[in-house]
Amino acid sequence: MLNVPSQSFPAPRSQQRVASGGRSKVPLKQGRSLMDWIRLTKSGKDLTGLKGRLIEVTEEELKKHNKKDDCWICIRGFVYNVSPYMEYHPGGEDELMRAAGSDGTELFDQVHRWVNYESMLKECLVGRMAIKPAVLKDYREEEKKVLNGMLPKSQVTDTLAKEGPSYPSYDWFQTNSLVTIAIYTKQKDINLDSIIVDHQDDSFRAETIIKDCLYLIHIGLSHEVQEDFSVRVVESVGKIEIVLKKKENTSWDFLGHPLENHNSLIPRKDTGTEIVKPYTPVSGSLLSEFKEPVLPNNKYIYFLIKIYHTGLFTPELDRLQIGDFVSVSSPEGNFKISKFQELEDLFLLAAGTGFTPMVKILNYALTDIPSLRKVKLMFFNKTEDDIIWRSQLEKLAFKDKRLDVEFVLSAPISEWNGKQGHISPALLSEFLKINLDKSKVLVCICGPVPFTEQGVRLLQDLNFSKNEIHSFTA
Ligand code: NAP
Repeated sequence: MLNVPSQSFPAPRSQQRVASGGRSKVPLKQGRSLMDWIRLTKSGKDLTGLKGRLIEVTEEELKKHNKKDDCWICIRGFVYNVSPYMEYHPGGEDELMRAAGSDGTELFDQVHRWVNYESMLKECLVGRMAIKPAVLKDYREEEKKVLNGMLPKSQVTDTLAKEGPSYPSYDWFQTNSLVTIAIYTKQKDINLDSIIVDHQDDSFRAETIIKDCLYLIHIGLSHEVQEDFSVRVVESVGKIEIVLKKKENTSWDFLGHPLENHNSLIPRKDTGTEIVKPYTPVSGSLLSEFKEPVLPNNKYIYFLIKIYHTGLFTPELDRLQIGDFVSVSSPEGNFKISKFQELEDLFLLAAGTGFTPMVKILNYALTDIPSLRKVKLMFFNKTEDDIIWRSQLEKLAFKDKRLDVEFVLSAPISEWNGKQGHISPALLSEFLKINLDKSKVLVCICGPVPFTEQGVRLLQDLNFSKNEIHSFTA
């Protein structure tokens, strides 16, 4: 799934533009800028004091947390511990304290409704407000309720829209807090890379790639929804479910009104959308003798990008010509080089393009960590052809005896002599065999999300501590 901002930010008539300059800011202490806050939130520090646990907060409990050093605020049903954020708040601590121990939604909306607080305060989330018993009953009833609030079919004529058994369709249903839009593509090769979802304020847009066309759902939602959403694909039946979180826990009578080209199938060449997707920069090569000549001003960034031919985004990237324009954000991530201090054993578990973060790690580890005695890479791919930089890896392992590389294939040809299968306890325990007693170890893992999640669970089962595991997630 790609998150696609469709307009310049802030949007021309957004509240942010309207309000800019009208609000008073207080001078922040040094080291308390927005970037410092983002760094703190990505540091892994426990900002809620609950060690990552989410709880249900009663009104009585909320009221108790009303001091600067213990300040909880509820916004749209979610409770945040804002004490760690106090010194970073551009509006000052006193402004935040106005909502201490209470529901600050109204105040928040008056001052800066446009702020993406869900993302800013993600690490401060304590949990949800507990639902009172009477409401709970409604919620259960709601859950069973499926509304037939389908929008009328689009009247657009310049599209390929045709009724019929193979024409895509959609439906929606709701619970007290969620709205699910189900798209029936009637295609079996649909995957997450086939869909772009974008919503801003009340405008919701989902583009699904179906062969040479895009099926467009474009709706002005009848109620506000939160910024984050999830997308699930049931490949076997070609169904896509987009789950939106309501801003207010109320029942919607209808989903919304159709916007331009809603519910239509449009030839792909006729569409143009801005797409945002994170990629890990790599080095020009793994081996020093393969390195590109030093370029003036370090003006080059290397990316290693797999083109998914049936996808929406990467074929577009593939078609870019020299001189075309791509904007690049500043880097994000929380990997710290201090993890390498006095490191002796480094294990890298990569699947597919999950190899990309390992490139710089390998370069750095083999050249800049004097204490390092062993690096082992286990690289999972479907087939031999999918192994990225195989010959460079083999040459590097030959040249530097501290490096071992093992390839594991999930769909090899019968002649393949190497390891086969998926990440598993058996593969891992053999791979990680070392004298762990006296060594400082780090295991880095990156690949498709379920691969990474399963790997982390298996590593924990093998008694690796949190500090010894670093998982990369896009
Ligand atoms: P892929 O070719 O589809 O899969 C690579 C290997 O992983 C295959 O052997 C595959 O087995 C296996 N695999 C896939 N899903 C699995 C699962 N659920 N459990 C266990 N093994 C599984 O991979 P890809 O298309 O290159 O995708 C790589 C992923 O890495 C992307 O999702 C990308 O977003 C992510 N990535 C993240 C970062 C980052 O966070 N910094 C950087 C780069 C890439 P099968 O043959 O059975 O599918």
